Amino acid sequence: MHTLLPTSIVGSLPKPSWLAQPETLWSPWKLQTDALAEGKQDALRIAVQEQRRSGIDIISDGEQTRQHFVTTFIEHLTGVDFERRETVRIRNRYDASVPTVVGAVSREKPVFVDDAAFLRQQTDQPIKWALPGPMTMIDTLADRHYKSREKLAWEFATILNQEAKELEAAGVDIIQFDEPAFNVFFDELQDWGVAALERAAEGLRAETVVHICYGYGIKANNDWKATLGSEWRQYEESFPLLQKSALDVVSLECQHSRVPIDLVELLRGKKVMLGAIDVATDAVETPDEVADTLRRALAFVDADKLVPSTNCGMAPLSRSVARGKLSALRAGADIVRGELAADTR
Ligand SMILES: [Zn+2]
Repeated sequence: MHTLLPTSIVGSLPKPSWLAQPETLWSPWKLQTDALAEGKQDALRIAVQEQRRSGIDIISDGEQTRQHFVTTFIEHLTGVDFERRETVRIRNRYDASVPTVVGAVSREKPVFVDDAAFLRQQTDQPIKWALPGPMTMIDTLADRHYKSREKLAWEFATILNQEAKELEAAGVDIIQFDEPAFNVFFDELQDWGVAALERAAEGLRAETVVHICYGYGIKANNDWKATLGSEWRQYEESFPLLQKSALDVVSLECQHSRVPIDLVELLRGKKVMLGAIDVATDAVETPDEVADTLRRALAFVDADKLVPSTNCGMAPLSRSVARGKLSALRAGADIVRGELAADTR
């Protein structure tokens, strides 16, 4: 892609109210069987159309065919019992009832490959597909089989690599791994987290992204953020490791966060997907606010490596707010593109 500052969303968009309860995370489907399959495809078409109409350059599926960014993938694997549930602490932050690993995990058939092929048919623009990362996957499960977080992560990395290769063959240009757990488990990140992620991305020709954020704008996350002090330096742990890693792009949260912008320097040489849209507020950014965030980042990332993006998924927002934010992202990027073009004249 040769567009300067190509815009992209991190992942999810709100679902239409006829498909799932709006403004609710992980809300159950309102349709069943064939009607559900058709409804998901219709919603995906709308998500593509809204991104294109807003001038977004890298097109995602808006996660219209999945309920949860981690669980929907795991539901398709064997070795995990969704009936047997245990309460565990997710990312050291909140308790949740989760399924249990009861045997060897494996992927009997592709999970998202048909959906990705359908997305491919909808546009000639570059497309991006998101998968959960290995460390974030293990953090949403109770493990009664491997009895080792690391072992289970390596198993998931192998499975993710199979899925990623088939997504690539279906025409996906960019494959993203969501690893919010990288902002929490720093010892594991050092020991095996980045290595397991590289295993998941091994041998891909598609561009590879790792997305690390402070979570959706839900209460448990907002409460956690309030404890993090005046400067959020969590990225200081992962960025130096990722700068040396095989991953091509790092996606981070920036807009309205307390992340010191100079931490971006730790990624020098990598592409940076910079969150210039806050997903935890209904207030739609002005183009100038977006442009200002991008300009501040440009002190630490080369212009040809900057991808303006959202902080995280927009699933919990209303559709009109999400549309407003897509347009603001594009308009903000346009302002900075104009400035960069003027500089080189
Ligand atoms: Zn996120």
